Amino acid sequence: MRPDIPTLLHDIFGFPAFRGVQEQVVGRIMAGQPTLAIMPTGAGKSLCYQLPAVALDGCCVVVSPLIALMHDQLRAAQAVGIRAASLTSVDADWRETQDRLRNGDLDLLYVAPERASGEAFRTLLRAAKIALFAIDEAHCVSEWGHDFRPDYRLLRPLLDEFPDVPRLALTATADHHTRDDILVQLGIPREGLIIAGFDRPNIRYAVHPRDGLARQLSDLIAGQTGPGIVYAPTRAATEKLAETLGKTGRPTRAYHAGLDPRTRAANQAAFIASEDMVMVATIAFGMGIDKPDVRFVAHAALPKSIEGYYQESGRAGRDGEPAEAHLFWGADDFARARQRIGELDPLRQQGERARITALGGLVETGTCRRAILLRHFGENPSPTCGNCDNCLNPPPSIDATQTARKFLSA
Ligand code: ADP
Ligand code: MG
Repeated sequence: MRPDIPTLLHDIFGFPAFRGVQEQVVGRIMAGQPTLAIMPTGAGKSLCYQLPAVALDGCCVVVSPLIALMHDQLRAAQAVGIRAASLTSVDADWRETQDRLRNGDLDLLYVAPERASGEAFRTLLRAAKIALFAIDEAHCVSEWGHDFRPDYRLLRPLLDEFPDVPRLALTATADHHTRDDILVQLGIPREGLIIAGFDRPNIRYAVHPRDGLARQLSDLIAGQTGPGIVYAPTRAATEKLAETLGKTGRPTRAYHAGLDPRTRAANQAAFIASEDMVMVATIAFGMGIDKPDVRFVAHAALPKSIEGYYQESGRAGRDGEPAEAHLFWGADDFARARQRIGELDPLRQQGERARITALGGLVETGTCRRAILLRHFGENPSPTCGNCDNCLNPPPSIDATQTARKFLSA
């Protein structure tokens, strides 16, 4: 007999209790019920499949979109004694992993979607005992999502070949189009939808028109002691801003996908270990980075969507202590967005336009920022939160210029 769930939660993961909807999700998986869990970044999605993976007889196959993300999770799982492996292009121990899978020697197996959907992988799984399919970052299956990955569309035949194996899709993206699409694409009934609350009450939101960005950011950093992330729109901008902000005396580094892998890894490790570093990064930085004490996240320009903004700003304050999210924007951000949309395939223009309009609503509102964010995710929040710029300092009159709409319709 394996130990019961609360014992495993405590003994293996070291947690005294479940958080939020974790208990409900794990309960459904243990009962064999297909589930789509929508949980904000930092809510603890990984535990929802890692715990059943240990508790159930058989291996949990985890589909995950990024090798870096997989390997971070793999290391974390192995560190607490979970029998875990991955099959990716950079793994050298394929034979051993396949043997372990066939011999019932693995709790968790991470694979990329393009591998998971292939015939060779299905053949391998037929020779093993599979307990669960977990599809992480499941919004990648939807064209509505902000990270569409066509390979996610090919997972369905794999899932359907093992009808008795429960499937768990996980994402932080909650708009209803994406949500419905995930249910349909992955064959999960509507009653399997579990949505966690999206509010991050310890994060204070503030939005600022850009007006001398370098000085604005320097002032912001001067008022903050803990580690922080500044998201910049381009690789060049991260390096330039990192240099400028480094002059404040704070340890500052840059991170983007164009840096050589060693520098990137070194900068990331330095940030994780630091108690006061400012990381100036593109959005390539953050997915899968587990640093609970980030005290602020600043966006130097308009993010790509409300979902993106929520996910990126949500990297602040995972420890539940007070944290801040600052968004700096200018009318030129909307102009650039409009240009970008004009270059898109007409089918995609409508969705992009809606994303930018929603962002316009967030930056231009004179009312509660949190309420705007939460309503976007389908919640029904109280109209004031008491912990955003507009609630703390109500603006004298609502700016009715509607920049977003003006620029988009021009
Ligand atoms: P997500 O994938 O939803 O963004 P993660 O699975 O990476 O979140 O977990 C975020 C953090 O929360 C991790 O540091 C994890 O160890 C922690 N965590 C998860 N579940 C619990 C829990 N029940 N109690 C305390 N901490 C938890
Ligand atoms: Mg995760």
